Amino acid sequence: MKALLHLNDNIKTRGGFILNIDDKIKALEPCEKCQDIQIKKFSPLRELIDFEILNGEYMKCECGKRPLDIVMSHILKIMIEGGIVPEKATLRRNSPVPLSGFYYSSLNPQFIGEETLILLHPDFTADVASRLIGDVPEVKCVLKGSPQSTAGQLDKTSDINHFEILEGDDTQINVMRTLLGEKIVLIKNQSKHHIEVAMTTEEKLVRLHNYLNNNDVKKGIAIDGMCGLGALGIYLLKSGFEKVIFNDINPEMIEALKDNIEMNGICEGYEISNQAFEDLEIDNVDLCVIDAFPGVDVEEIVKKAEEMAGNVVII
Ligand SMILES: [Zn+2]
Repeated sequence: MKALLHLNDNIKTRGGFILNIDDKIKALEPCEKCQDIQIKKFSPLRELIDFEILNGEYMKCECGKRPLDIVMSHILKIMIEGGIVPEKATLRRNSPVPLSGFYYSSLNPQFIGEETLILLHPDFTADVASRLIGDVPEVKCVLKGSPQSTAGQLDKTSDINHFEILEGDDTQINVMRTLLGEKIVLIKNQSKHHIEVAMTTEEKLVRLHNYLNNNDVKKGIAIDGMCGLGALGIYLLKSGFEKVIFNDINPEMIEALKDNIEMNGICEGYEISNQAFEDLEIDNVDLCVIDAFPGVDVEEIVKKAEEMAGNVVII
């Protein structure tokens, strides 16, 4: 019998510390005194704010949060002073990608608390990174790399790529609501993952949910063929599948996957496989779900999936 425990409000992370999800979600919201300030995105930042007064206290609310535009301005100021973007840099053209260290659903917080942002930019240097961590209270990690590049492992001929951690802790927690009424929590090291632009994992779960509702799929055995952190497979187990085979080519993903399966209260009903999808030797399963890297040719993958499974979903 499968033991599918409901995710508690308190979850235990890898470090063994207890994380209260509800507290973290609440902390994303502004307090009553938080005041929004918008900075023009297309004008050179130097013409908009006096750099002398733009420090870690500038425009900080008594609750400790600052408006996103102020935080991003502070970050851009340091990048301009560090000479990695032009003197006339604007928020629109020259900002790094700000990723939340704690991400809840599709919420994009406009007020930012301390040590919550992971920054990614191709031209970060060690000096700029050290100033960002030292001077901007909201920054928790600085990663060097291009948002378009593929962190992770594309296929069996390619190496495992990472974004380079220049400073800080790249742990990222993603809490997703699902149509099952239960949250799924994923924890990952952001340096090892590409940036999802097309669709969020939460949207992928909705797509999978709709597929299961609109098609007659036996909830027997399923394969999560390129599982990554395992969100889709975890979802299948929670929605009643007897067994899920999680597969990923990247051994680093397998380690993270094990943590995430455990963290979501799943104790049995699964197998883990660490190989290229095209090398899987499995057949007669009820469902195969594929969440391929962006830009990967899925034609061969679909052919292989159709040999193995009665139903194939490309997310
Ligand atoms: Zn406030």
